[in-house]
Amino acid sequence: MRTSQLYLNTLKEAPSEAELTSHKLMVRAGLIKKLGSGLYTWMPLGMRVLRKVEEIVRDEMNAAGAQEMLMPTIQPAELWQETGRWALFGPQMLKIKDRHERDFCFGPTHEEVITDIARSELRSYKQLPVNMYQVQVKFRDEIRPRFGVMRAREFVMKDAYSFDADFAGLQVSYDKMYTAYSNIFTRLGLKFRAVAADTGAIGGDGSHEFQVLADAGEDILAYAPDSDYAANVELAEALAPVTPRAAAAEALRDIDTPKQTTCEAVAELMGIGIERTVKLIALVNNDGKFIVALLRGDHSLNEVKLGKVSGVGEFRFATEDEIRARFNCPPGFLGPVGIDADILVVADRSVAVMSDFVCGANKPKFHIAGVNFGRDLPEPNAVADIRNVVSGDPSPDGKGKLELCRGIEVGHIFQLRTKYSEAMNATFVGEDGQPKFFEMGCYGIGVSRIVAAAIEQNYDERGIIFTQAMAPFAIAVVAVGYHRSEAVKAAADQLYADLKAVGVDVLLDDRNERPGSMFADMELIGIPHRITIGDKGLADGMVEYVARAGGEMQKVALADAVSFAR
Ligand code: ATP
Ligand code: MG
Ligand code: MG
Ligand code: MG
Repeated sequence: MRTSQLYLNTLKEAPSEAELTSHKLMVRAGLIKKLGSGLYTWMPLGMRVLRKVEEIVRDEMNAAGAQEMLMPTIQPAELWQETGRWALFGPQMLKIKDRHERDFCFGPTHEEVITDIARSELRSYKQLPVNMYQVQVKFRDEIRPRFGVMRAREFVMKDAYSFDADFAGLQVSYDKMYTAYSNIFTRLGLKFRAVAADTGAIGGDGSHEFQVLADAGEDILAYAPDSDYAANVELAEALAPVTPRAAAAEALRDIDTPKQTTCEAVAELMGIGIERTVKLIALVNNDGKFIVALLRGDHSLNEVKLGKVSGVGEFRFATEDEIRARFNCPPGFLGPVGIDADILVVADRSVAVMSDFVCGANKPKFHIAGVNFGRDLPEPNAVADIRNVVSGDPSPDGKGKLELCRGIEVGHIFQLRTKYSEAMNATFVGEDGQPKFFEMGCYGIGVSRIVAAAIEQNYDERGIIFTQAMAPFAIAVVAVGYHRSEAVKAAADQLYADLKAVGVDVLLDDRNERPGSMFADMELIGIPHRITIGDKGLADGMVEYVARAGGEMQKVALADAVSFAR
């Protein structure tokens, strides 16, 4: 490609709203252009980078035996109602209606759609295992879209889904994806770490995140350099017995809709109607399943009803005693609820009372309940121990000390087990002739986020420093005086042709610009290698080579220049 043909539009100034370096540089380099909050166009130069990331992702996914497909972005509400996530996913999901007033959403993820495919397509254990993936645009109506494509509303995700006949099979599929992800991030030249992770709204059992290490990251990771121990501190928060705040916020985040009170949202989730006078207690256990208690009328505890919702049809009422037993609550424990709280959230054995919680209108107010309830808190468990850690604290696995760092989540793999197949009644006929639920896994990569994450790891005062794997072009040939020197023009055109002939992705800067601004552009957009051709050097058959990542300028023979592009 020649710069005279390339759509290249670099900016001196970054938009004032851009906080992160990667966001500033991506806009300045003309990789992306903002359309609206969390909505970005990938301009031709940025598209080249995105495609390089996609290529590596596809390559490793294919090598791991996954097969590419493409599902619709628009999904019917009925599928999401089957799993209960139509309500549970909350305001992150963009809901839309068609001309017949039928409900749809713009897919934030595709577990429901793929499970629907599996239940009608995969009939026998002989067809398993299967792993299918797509590279596709997702929409999530993030509360705070920011940092450009790092936390966008519309973004590109690679999502894969595996189906196995049994748990042992799922573990094999999961391990393959773990390895594929490690290969992908290694090939992209990223410094990353795989950490144990919380399963969030996707749900399921085992889970790992792949985190790009960068100070700008939103996540805090605790790891032990002397062992394999590494976890997202978010995980510890969710499991911590004495920090209800994070768990409560996490649990209720997805039922927070602007139009509804939380009571109504939870009632919708449970598929029941509620009266105005009803007070509601949401109890949330560790695996993210809601256990909901309704407190009616005068808040008499005798009328407490408890329901468990983890999918459609799993709703049941229980007695106050059962609630107490489940959460090991002494008598009187539920007492204060009727007095001043609308919602009581219990995460594992911790308690948070929320009042005045009208979603969208007020920020939730948490009254963190302590010993007020007269309860014996259990011994903190190993995971919970990392909740308030500082660098140097002992690792929960007893092997050495913990370090803390920040990370950007670029990949996330989950063992879903039978969460979705059970909710959607997706079965196959097993070897014994009996119907069985699929053992599922799902595996996401933030393809567009990776570009921003990579820039957070590699930049300097002059701009982006792309690795060879992701760079929009492998090498820039800057022809100084292309329009006035026959010799420069001839040498540049020849080198350009030679590089292309050996398959090198070369950008020939043939613009009639000052050399300074040509160099500045090539540096800003992060091209890893640069050859400069000018009259002076050419007289001796020499050109100049410099690596974007640093190092001295070298004089090299024009004849050897091709070898510098690798
Ligand atoms: P986050 O914690 O950053 O909100 P997530 O845990 O909600 O991410 P997943 O459901 O695990 O996201 O989706 C798989 C991958 O998609 C994530 O690991 C991340 O790389 C990417 N991703 C998620 N949300 C966004 C977003 N708003 N913008 C860009 N990429 C995203
Ligand atoms: Mg998210
Ligand atoms: Mg996350
Ligand atoms: Mg995640």
